[in-house]
Amino acid sequence: MSEVLLGIDLGGTQVKAAAVTLDGTVAGHDVRPTPADDGPEAVADVMAASARAALEAANGATARAAGIGAPGPMNWQTGVVFSPPNLVGWHNVPLAEMMRARLGIPCFVDNDANLACYGEFSTGAGRGTQDMCMLTLGTGVGGGIVVFGRLLRGIDGTAAEIGHLTVQRDGRKCGCGAHGCLEAYASVTGLVRTAIEGLEAGKPSSLRGACGGNLNALTGKMISDEAGRGDTFARWVIEETGDWIGVGIASLINLLNPEKVVLGGGMIHAGELLLNAIRKRAKKDAFEVPANRAQIVIAELGEAAGVVGAAMAARERQAGLA
Ligand SMILES: [Zn+2]
Repeated sequence: MSEVLLGIDLGGTQVKAAAVTLDGTVAGHDVRPTPADDGPEAVADVMAASARAALEAANGATARAAGIGAPGPMNWQTGVVFSPPNLVGWHNVPLAEMMRARLGIPCFVDNDANLACYGEFSTGAGRGTQDMCMLTLGTGVGGGIVVFGRLLRGIDGTAAEIGHLTVQRDGRKCGCGAHGCLEAYASVTGLVRTAIEGLEAGKPSSLRGACGGNLNALTGKMISDEAGRGDTFARWVIEETGDWIGVGIASLINLLNPEKVVLGGGMIHAGELLLNAIRKRAKKDAFEVPANRAQIVIAELGEAAGVVGAAMAARERQAGLA
């Protein structure tokens, strides 16, 4: 088996690793739990074991470099991870150096949401473009931006926090502490919140039955399912959420003039109802030329985006191109 690149994704609950061919095909992969309570050394050991398992699954391929996606904030140039909220006890962890010591190859650390974007750019829905951005619509809203074919990282590596674009002055409180962030409306958490607000205001809906009368038990899937069954209010909640997402995307379109805006994350299962609302608002609010240019499309790589992006970014960084 020939040479490959390793892509490793460090999540709060799972470590994923993939052996990725130089053209971006996953040749072997591995997933295992993150021993988040055991500290950075134990987590790095598991990441290395997962990486070796991925190489074995790729018929014993050898890796020339590894890309590692980790939650921010971090110094992407030195590979030091500062203090990710979902990894308690991590402070200034030299993750790139720790992984290099274990794997014996150059290791490059980047923000995980940025790498998911880079994965879609390299081999997914954004392939063939030079300028694109991605929104990962899950519990929160992750973002990534590629300009001139490169990840936009900013001077401190904190760029592309699309979820924290302010879309409403003094609006809903966001998990980051600020008010009116896109994430507070456009995430699954925001979707559920919009539904609860409406139900508390007395809107008639089959959602009350779906959650057994306990609004705190309401999930994004219930809203999507009831919308699919034709519940008027559930459909409105999805369209309203799509409208907020479209507001954020219109700003991105005006700011970046991207060829594609790629949407990933659990929310995209809400389907055409959501997508149509997003497209309608983005087209209405953005300037005509960039709005006509930007294709708003669904991500293609799913869960693999992060590890593929990590591997492809490692290739570029090893070549001194990123
Ligand atoms: Zn925020």
